[in-house]
Amino acid sequence: MNPDNPDQPKAATTRCGLIAIIGKPNVGKSTLLNFLMGQKLSITSRKPQTTRHRLLGIKTLANTQMVFVDTPGMHSGQNKAINRYMNKTVQSVIHDVDLILFMVDRMKWSEEDELVLRHIKQCKTPVFLLLNKVDLVTDKDILLPYMEEIRQLHPFAEIFPLSALKEHNIEALESAIEKYLPKGDFYYPEDQLTDKNARFLAAEFIREKITRQMGDELPYEVTVEIEEFDQDGKIIHISALILVEKTGQKKIVIGEGGSRLKLIGTEARKDIEDLLGSKVMLKLWVKVKSGWSDDERALKSLGYDDLS
Ligand code: GDP
Ligand code: MG
Repeated sequence: MNPDNPDQPKAATTRCGLIAIIGKPNVGKSTLLNFLMGQKLSITSRKPQTTRHRLLGIKTLANTQMVFVDTPGMHSGQNKAINRYMNKTVQSVIHDVDLILFMVDRMKWSEEDELVLRHIKQCKTPVFLLLNKVDLVTDKDILLPYMEEIRQLHPFAEIFPLSALKEHNIEALESAIEKYLPKGDFYYPEDQLTDKNARFLAAEFIREKITRQMGDELPYEVTVEIEEFDQDGKIIHISALILVEKTGQKKIVIGEGGSRLKLIGTEARKDIEDLLGSKVMLKLWVKVKSGWSDDERALKSLGYDDLS
C-alpha cells in the first residue's frame, strides 16, 4: 500500500501475459512448448498439421506467469474448411497476446514463413524470431550473418537461434520472455498447467499415436472423439471413437488382425496414465465419417466451433 495514499494499490510485483507460438507446420512449436512446460501437453509428430486446437500451457515461476498458446500452423495452399479454421485461429490469436514467438526452421526462409510474417506485420505485438533446429546447422559461422540478414525483414524484438529438441538456448529465451510480459496479477492458480481438460488431452494423445503410427499412409483428416470418460474406483475407463474418411483408411488404422489399433491403444494409454497418474482402461473404435474435413457443420459437431 502506498503510505501517502491508502486508496492507491501498490505497484504490482508480478508479471503475467499471453504468449503465442506461431509458425508454419513442423518447425517445432509443440516441442518447444512441451519443453518449456516440462511436461507433455501438446502433441508432436514428424507429420505436419498434427496440432489443430489452440492449447494453453501455463507456466508459473516465482514472480511470473507465462500463458502459452500453441497454434496450428498456417497454410497457403489448400482451402478446405479445416485449413480455413486453422488460419483463423492463428489470425485471431496474434492480436490477443502480449508477445509472439515466431518460429522458423533454421535458415530455410520460405513462402509460408513470409505469409506468417505478413499476418504479424498487421499487429503491434512484439515479436521474437526463433530460428529453431540449429542443431542441424553444421556450419555455425553462417548463423550470425544470417541473423543480420533476417533482421532487415521486420523490427523483431529479439532473434534467438535455438534447438527445442536438444534444449539449446531455451533458458535465455525464457528470461527474455519474462521481461516482455506486462506487470500484473496471475490469471490462473499457480498449480494450473493447462485450460484443457483431461478428456481433451486424452483425445489428443490418441490422435498423436495414430499419426505417429501411420506416417504417410493416412492423410491428416483423422479425428478422435471421447465417448466415455468415467472413473471407477482407481481405474479410469475411456472409450474413444477414431473417425476416418474412407473405408480403406479404417482398415489401415485397425491393421492386420487389429494389431495396429492395439499398438496405438497401448501407447496412448501409457501417456494418459502418466498425465492422470491413474490406471486407465482404454477402448478404441474406428468409424468412417466421409468428407468431414470439408464440411463446416461436421466440424462444428466435432467441437471445432469457433469458426465464425
Ligand atoms: P510443430 O508442427 O511446429 O508443432 O512441430 P513439432 O513440435 O510437432 O515438431 C516437428 C518435428 O520436428 C518433430 O519430429 C520434432 O522432433 C522435430 N524438432 C522439433 N524441434 C527440433 C529441433 O530443435 N531440432 C531437430 N533436429 N528437430 C526438431
Ligand atoms: Mg504442433
